[in-house]
Amino acid sequence: MTTPPHDWDSSYLADEPPPWDIGRPQPAFVTLADRGKLSGEVLDAGCGTGEHTLLAASSGADATGVDLSEAAIRAARVKAAQRGLSAHFEVGDVAAMSRPREGFDVAIDSGLFHVFGDDERADYVAALSRLVRPGGTCHLMCFSDRQPGDWGPRRVRQIEIEEAFSRGWTVESIQAAEFEINPIFDITTASAWLAEIRRTPTADPSGQADRI
Ligand code: SAH
Repeated sequence: MTTPPHDWDSSYLADEPPPWDIGRPQPAFVTLADRGKLSGEVLDAGCGTGEHTLLAASSGADATGVDLSEAAIRAARVKAAQRGLSAHFEVGDVAAMSRPREGFDVAIDSGLFHVFGDDERADYVAALSRLVRPGGTCHLMCFSDRQPGDWGPRRVRQIEIEEAFSRGWTVESIQAAEFEINPIFDITTASAWLAEIRRTPTADPSGQADRI
């Protein structure tokens, strides 16, 4: 399964905000921050307008958000300045990002994994394998196959998360969770999976060994 290229900028430049852009972090990630899980060097992959990057920054992390959309990154930088928070924001493809010397301690993925087709998904996981240090963690929230209808992104089954991260990672937990949707839309929440996935401490840091 492949997905057609998407013009992400147009989502952010439209009159209405995109459904996922709720003006605050997803509650599931606030809970993770409260539990001290968003600390160290944190990458927010597909950060959009930066709510989870800024959540991590406000929890004391050295936070970096990356997104393909220039419009989203512009908005994220404005929010950081308005809130007096320090975070790094980059326009770019997460798969092409360079790795900090030691690798990121934590990767946040709120709504990115589920946008990829199968081939892109494998490339994305290979990129995370390169970017996250051995022993580091990825917290990933994606649309769930429990969500009825076909509105929104592709639905993901738990087994797909397990399969995507079957080499070089350990899936520590997958919990039922919810995405909050911008209230201007008809549905206000959507069923999600929230996964905590740990990079194997001894894995090949280049990520090449983990390509499926
Ligand atoms: N995490 C944000 C946005 C989720 S929507 C939030 O919770 O609000 C998915 C985001 O991923 C979009 O902003 C889109 O521009 C971005 N994106 C899609 N493919 C990407 C890629 N290859 N690299 C970086 N960002 C990407």
